[in-house]
Amino acid sequence: MTGLRLYNTKARAKQDFVPIDASNVRMYVCGPTVYDRAHLGNARPVVVFDTLYRLLRHLYGTDQVTYVRNFTDVDDKINAEALRRQKAGAPGTLEDLIHQRTEETIAWYHADMDALGALRPTLEPRATEFIAQMIAMTESLIASGHAYAAKGHVLFAVESYAAYGKLSGRSVDDMIAGARVEVAPYKRNPMDFVLWKPSSGEEPGWDSPWGKGRPGWHIECSAMAHELLGESFDIHGGGLDLQFPHHENEIAQSACAHPNGDFAHYWLHNEMLQVEGKKMSKSLGNFFTVRDLLDQGIPGEVIRFVLLMTHYRSPMDWTAEKARQAEATLRKWREATASVAPSTPLLGVVAALTDDLNTAGALAALHAAAGEGDWPAVKASAELLGLLTAPLGAWAAALDVDLGLQTERLASLRIAAMATKDFSAVDALKSALIAAGVQVRMSKGGVDLVPGPDFDPAKLDAIK
Ligand SMILES: [Zn+2]
Repeated sequence: MTGLRLYNTKARAKQDFVPIDASNVRMYVCGPTVYDRAHLGNARPVVVFDTLYRLLRHLYGTDQVTYVRNFTDVDDKINAEALRRQKAGAPGTLEDLIHQRTEETIAWYHADMDALGALRPTLEPRATEFIAQMIAMTESLIASGHAYAAKGHVLFAVESYAAYGKLSGRSVDDMIAGARVEVAPYKRNPMDFVLWKPSSGEEPGWDSPWGKGRPGWHIECSAMAHELLGESFDIHGGGLDLQFPHHENEIAQSACAHPNGDFAHYWLHNEMLQVEGKKMSKSLGNFFTVRDLLDQGIPGEVIRFVLLMTHYRSPMDWTAEKARQAEATLRKWREATASVAPSTPLLGVVAALTDDLNTAGALAALHAAAGEGDWPAVKASAELLGLLTAPLGAWAAALDVDLGLQTERLASLRIAAMATKDFSAVDALKSALIAAGVQVRMSKGGVDLVPGPDFDPAKLDAIK
């Protein structure tokens, strides 16, 4: 026994975590739909489940944990963007443009989540690579009477699965009354959901027994989890917003298609994120992506620290003040541990994390140990949380850099250029500084240079 306890949404209780196979602990987390940059709310589950992944590796062994997180690369928003580009004159077929959009979004996602210190999952399946499995699963659901084809669609019949609604604790009648369900003439019950839908000429589609079409969103996760983790596995995670209908539908599909398995044993849901006490929204002007924060010079490690300050089952509030506090703490800890070798993680930190991933408690234990100057243990414990690691340390190293010389150079070049109206030397130095990851701010008051998140000291030294 490792002493790990997790709050299982399915049981509505904290339970001892007992893996099916301790030599291969298996976790599936719903990943992003890759149509745009990840916003800060998308980063919360990534950091939460990365921390759980790190903890599981610590408890069971680095190679004894399989973590699957999918990319949803079939989506109307991806198609819409590809179509917009094609109409704007971009070369290539619609399929090429869809592929291009998903490739660039996946690259952004990796760069941004790497910056937060999130380890890459063991497997990152793309929905489009598992269409055959989704079609097979849909066929088997029709054969067993849990789904039906109608007008090019295939729908899951919720009334065929008695436990529907159990995860989120609702009855089908409540759901019909409370949810904004899409009423369609081909649905037998308004709660029936799509497993397969027809594709028009402009939409990506695959041949199927029901004509050219594409899978519904929910079937993706069921098919990929089954293919990669088996009929039964340990943990399924995701944001609370996915509990209904997405997770409820995943359970219904998987339980009916694989009646001998029991899908995921533990269901974990993280609460949502707010900004300065308000829901993040484009209309309120407080909507930002992870990349926006990194570009403002907030290090990824600071973002990670702030996300870990709140327990994952509590709503969390992102504030500029928390980011300032986190940065001051991390700077102090980085300075103190720069030449310290890590010992073993503090018992208090491990105890907090094994108690349903209490990251706030773990950070409190870290603060206490830092107060006592136990730096080898602070470093080892912080690393368990994905903090004070080498890959995330560039920002702290950049703090020691003296940009005074280049600041003076740029300022005097600018004064000279104002007289001659020839700004080529100013522009050349500015470009070289930006290429070295330095943020260049020029105003009437003068020149200000700040190392950015991608600061590269070697490139700075190479500027002539
Ligand atoms: Zn999912």
